[in-house]
Amino acid sequence: MPWITCKDLQKEYRSGTQSQMALNHVDFSLEQGEYVAIVGKSGSGKSTLMNMLGLIDTPTGGSIIWNGEQVLRYPERKKTQLRNQMIGYVFQAFYLEPSYTVYQNIEIPLLIAGYGTAERRSRILSALEEVGLSGKVRQRADSLSGGEKQRISIARCILKDAPIVILDEATASVDTDNESYIQEAINELVKGKTLLVIAHRLNTIRQADQILVISDGRISEQGTHDELMAKAGIYQDFVNIRKKASGWSLA
Ligand code: ADP
Repeated sequence: MPWITCKDLQKEYRSGTQSQMALNHVDFSLEQGEYVAIVGKSGSGKSTLMNMLGLIDTPTGGSIIWNGEQVLRYPERKKTQLRNQMIGYVFQAFYLEPSYTVYQNIEIPLLIAGYGTAERRSRILSALEEVGLSGKVRQRADSLSGGEKQRISIARCILKDAPIVILDEATASVDTDNESYIQEAINELVKGKTLLVIAHRLNTIRQADQILVISDGRISEQGTHDELMAKAGIYQDFVNIRKKASGWSLA
């Protein structure tokens, strides 16, 4: 039996008399430790699927089964507990308290979790070192670049050490300088984890155990990079466009 299974997952959005299926009969499963990349055009349903998997939002139909249990039937409190214990999120839009320092922003969840001062300090400093932000401990959050903010959300996730990591790979506001730091920090974060990524970069995508190509709320293609490249389909087009854009040889 797979670790997590989605069966017939649907999400319908209604506005007035109009309704739209952002997810339309999605089925798939994943194993513990697997790396799943979700790719597709903007508006195809990637974030919606991730929000369902991450128990942030509830589908309008279908089921999500973890270890044989129907988690959508859990009471809200138990769902929150599962989310807190099992899932670390790194999202693009991540809230930082603007007037707090980098250190204080990372300290908040540890304070809530009841860690003592000395342990908090050593854990925070080591997480900041892992994401290359040791030099910015006392800097205010509102003075950080987009990439630095993202590194803080990675540091928080490293501290949380949850078995599943959900990552929305940033496309905007990350300069090249930040990008290598972010990549290193992510590599540190995901060691030994089950990883679900909304992926945009070819290098990230090609290493996935399973790639889900989403179009119009459906899984239109599914497989590894090599399997999908062997088909003349959406994924192959997507890769070729990216290779052209980055000046890679197509040979
Ligand atoms: P992606 O992440 O691939 O860009 P989304 O999952 O954000 O796509 O969106 C899928 C579709 O659902 C889009 O057409 C979007 O406009 C719609 N959608 C997403 N969230 C909402 C919402 N809260 N209310 C109404 N429509 C939504």
